[in-house]
Amino acid sequence: MAKPRPAKRTLDSYTIKGSNKIIKPGDCVLMRPPDSSKLPYVARVESIEAGARGSNVKVRVRWYYRPEESIGGRRQFHGAKEVFLSDHYDIQSADTIEGKCFVHSFKNYTKLDAVGSDDYFCRFEYKSATGSFIPDRIAVFCKCEMPYNPDDLMIQCEGCSDWYHPACIDMTVEDAKKLEHFFCQGCSSQNEKKTENSSASRESESKVESKRLESKRRRR
Ligand SMILES: [Zn+2]
Ligand SMILES: [Zn+2]
Repeated sequence: MAKPRPAKRTLDSYTIKGSNKIIKPGDCVLMRPPDSSKLPYVARVESIEAGARGSNVKVRVRWYYRPEESIGGRRQFHGAKEVFLSDHYDIQSADTIEGKCFVHSFKNYTKLDAVGSDDYFCRFEYKSATGSFIPDRIAVFCKCEMPYNPDDLMIQCEGCSDWYHPACIDMTVEDAKKLEHFFCQGCSSQNEKKTENSSASRESESKVESKRLESKRRRR
């Protein structure tokens, strides 16, 4: 009869070395790269396993790729804190876990009051073998027809509801922030009069607008 392999134990949690932070399956973590000058790797912990004597803790992770780690590279619309949930799994020593992080949905990320160093967001899944994304199409905005980068301020036209980068409509970010109302070039001629006549009734609408503007404001 074959000798039984030493039993491995599945752990419910792991405490990061040198800290009191507890990691559980489903949590996102930052892992030390072999090259310490590089940014930490971002991963989601799938399971935690220890050797028979509770030593040699290993984590099964699903990697998040940063845009520069993807085949297509970083694009203009990728946010500074954007990561892609890949189909690439790995087993890593728990010793390489540097800390905990949070990978938010795109929607929740744009609603954060402040983006901390541990906050990331994910709106794409990424196939590491082919470099393809899910979804493979995404809404585009502005004259430049780009997807929304949450790091860049955009303002919304009250006429057509499209969003614009101030730079694409010859405006500075400072001026765009001061705007009470905005109509794009195409809509402005038709709507100028309407705004003047009904500025009182539009007040509540304008509050909603500035809140939205707030959520799209550049955060660093
Ligand atoms: Zn633009
Ligand atoms: Zn418009």
